[in-house]
Amino acid sequence: MPAQVDVGPKINREDEASPWAFSAAGRGLGRYRTVSHADGIYFWDTDGRRYLDGTSGAVVVNIGYGNAHVRQAMIEQAGKTAYTVRRFFASEPQIRLLTMVTALAGPGFDQAFLLSSGSESVEAALKLARQYAVVTGQASRWKVIARMPGFHGATLGAASVMGDPDHDAIFGPITLSMPKVPAPFTYRVPDGHDADSYAAYCVDRLERQIVVEGPDSVLAFIMEPVGGMATGALVAPDHYYTSVREICDRYGVLLIYDEVMSGSGRTGTFLAAHHWPDARPDLAVLAKGIGSGYTPIGAVLAPNRIVDAVAGAGGYQHSQTLAGNPLSAAIGVAVLEELVRLDLMANADRMGHLLRRRLTELMHNSSIIGDVRGKGLLNAIEIVADRDTKAAFPADRQACLRLAEIGREIGLLMFARRPAGGKFGEWLMAAPPLIITEPQIDEYIGLLGQVIAIYEREIGR
Ligand code: PLP
Repeated sequence: MPAQVDVGPKINREDEASPWAFSAAGRGLGRYRTVSHADGIYFWDTDGRRYLDGTSGAVVVNIGYGNAHVRQAMIEQAGKTAYTVRRFFASEPQIRLLTMVTALAGPGFDQAFLLSSGSESVEAALKLARQYAVVTGQASRWKVIARMPGFHGATLGAASVMGDPDHDAIFGPITLSMPKVPAPFTYRVPDGHDADSYAAYCVDRLERQIVVEGPDSVLAFIMEPVGGMATGALVAPDHYYTSVREICDRYGVLLIYDEVMSGSGRTGTFLAAHHWPDARPDLAVLAKGIGSGYTPIGAVLAPNRIVDAVAGAGGYQHSQTLAGNPLSAAIGVAVLEELVRLDLMANADRMGHLLRRRLTELMHNSSIIGDVRGKGLLNAIEIVADRDTKAAFPADRQACLRLAEIGREIGLLMFARRPAGGKFGEWLMAAPPLIITEPQIDEYIGLLGQVIAIYEREIGR
């Protein structure tokens, strides 16, 4: 372990971590106001200031805040029981939620297993994949290839497949760091490439990595089908998805989609995987939107062939005390009922197109937005110092964080990310709740336009 670890500019950590979890006192940038309440797509602080939530919290609150149907479901279930031991009793909400999730996920996702967060669900998927390999005579398979950059959670098991060199510099020695292959960025691609050829190159890198590792040792490839915070809502060219599926099939490698952020209707379909039906993964992971911030919950989706093989060999060896508790399950049911009743997946698709159109107009009128990308209501705008060269702002400028801070000052909440000290670029996520309406998109764009204009004035543009 090196004595000195260079983790890049501290400021990136400020925005990604939760300073208030330790102490809110004495902070400058990143100091937080106290929340009072929230309703729809808005938040109020205890001074009565209103904020439009432009990123659904941490891209979680799919059905919006203060939903009355969810509140009622919480009360009713709390009046029955909040907890049972899953080993001893099934619960009605659990059965209903599993039925609803698998019905919404459709073919290939016959079974679901409930957990309590995204990180846990990613780890549970890795364990299910590993157990499947063991019970089907493929015990030599254990390596999980992931993408650089990529994000799969904060716990150590999930961190082993996380693509973040800064994180590795600190936690590498206490994680089992897995092989990484490049994410198929579409905006900044190496010289001599366009988005298509670079995606093909990334697929080739995946195949070569499998060969180098030894195909019999590779258990799975995990990726976010529509990127989250690590790539700024990256959507690869269509052929990337089908080619990745082919490579995984060729070498008997399980394909895992981490849909913690992209799932639960966020991209306009229940799973982002539904956008590429010929490239369906073997396992998918949900969290965030399935509980919409009303409860900690996550799920692993799997086909019968995997679950049956594991069940037939003694059962899935994974259990966590609170996973699948009836209260969280009842909340999940109510959230999905609202998702369907309010037709929010169609709204995410419609509002997503409108939002990207309006963000693109903003880009043409601004000197610091280099790219607009995403699917449904999982989007990002890439912040650049120079639109012609795509050059990023210097790290000490803290551009993204300053933009998010200006947003908070004028009433717009946004997540800013500058992974690995800006090595891959920096962006603001544009991912409002799926209930957003057309006039609210106008309001969002108006506020974002003000944020950009204030920042451009600050830097003398
Ligand atoms: N996977 C992805 C793609 C995520 O975006 C996140 C969280 O942002 C996680 C996993 C981890 O989820 P959680 O924070 O619920 O543990």
